[in-house]
Amino acid sequence: MKVGILGGGQLARMIALAGYPLGIRFIFLDPSIGACATTLGSHLRGDYHDETLLADLAKRADVVTYEFENVPAKVAEFLTSNTQVYPSPKALAVAQDRLVEKDFLNELGIPTAPYEAVGNFDSLHAAMEKIGYPAILKTRTQGYDGKGQSILKSVTDLKSAWQKLEGLAAIVEGFVKFSREVSIIAVRSVSGELAFYPLSENVHKGGILRVSESRENDPMQAKAEDYATRLMIALDYVGVLALELFEVDGELIANEFAPRVHNSGHWTIEGAETSQFENHLRAILDLPLGSTAAVGYAAMVNFIGGKPENEEVLKIPNAHLHLYAKAARKGRKIAHATIHTKTLAELEPLKKRLIALANESDDS
Ligand code: AMP
Repeated sequence: MKVGILGGGQLARMIALAGYPLGIRFIFLDPSIGACATTLGSHLRGDYHDETLLADLAKRADVVTYEFENVPAKVAEFLTSNTQVYPSPKALAVAQDRLVEKDFLNELGIPTAPYEAVGNFDSLHAAMEKIGYPAILKTRTQGYDGKGQSILKSVTDLKSAWQKLEGLAAIVEGFVKFSREVSIIAVRSVSGELAFYPLSENVHKGGILRVSESRENDPMQAKAEDYATRLMIALDYVGVLALELFEVDGELIANEFAPRVHNSGHWTIEGAETSQFENHLRAILDLPLGSTAAVGYAAMVNFIGGKPENEEVLKIPNAHLHLYAKAARKGRKIAHATIHTKTLAELEPLKKRLIALANESDDS
């Protein structure tokens, strides 16, 4: 079996690492020379719009998937007319535009923060009359890790936030005073088999995920599974999907979903019977899904912009280090580590040590 992946970054790399024991081989399409997944398979190097390369990928791969959601619609259409592509272009189209995404979620009865589309400075003023302060202005497309976002605390913030958009279409969202952030990693196979991981409890700073912890028997699990199910059925979804949620007064409010494996599911490599990466492959190749049950307790910490010495991480008992083979650059995720223990009591102090180490080398 050969799987084609659009993108050759760390998510593609971890998919490939999970696929090797199953005898799956990989072909990556990515424009950069040193894309970190490409040592694990064949590399088609070039632009994502290059139809010769796309045709080659479609010919050589049994199925094509991707590691980022900003795949241009034209590229997804070209691929679907030449091979099997999972998740479907429809999932991409919804996930890559925050306005379309929020409309879609609300139509399915999945609540979101109040939001308004913003096309010009006057409409931003008008939207703020409805939404009220504080709020967040976000570009409709291309935003990730908090990029393209501004917090609006009062009317004096409007001008500079608007200028920062540089004319890009945007939405403004009410600021949610959440008690915590969680996400659910869900998976659905070609045959329609569904599975859900225990919730991930997530901590973000500056819009970037820092820490994710597995939460077995969480009181919000059933609600999160219900929302993820509605979403996957409506999209006729195949593969792993991550739905990010805010908890407010015992209710869940959806922030966004990612039609792919997700950073908040990295703990599943050690902390679940089958990782999100392996289950994504099983789903798109129509193999039986593996158990998503948690195995003990797990907490994942990202290394952003810089990382501690490997020895410092490996000295922490129960720490598992994952290097992405990427050069350090400000704000870039270059590695993560997961603490995996049998009991919650053992997890806490080790997690704190790992977070302290990550903070020392952080350059975000
Ligand atoms: P996003 O790029 O939409 O995933 O946002 C990144 C992070 O910014 C989220 O995980 C939250 O921590 C924060 N954030 C985004 N939207 C909101 C909101 N409407 N209210 C409060 N915090 C938010």
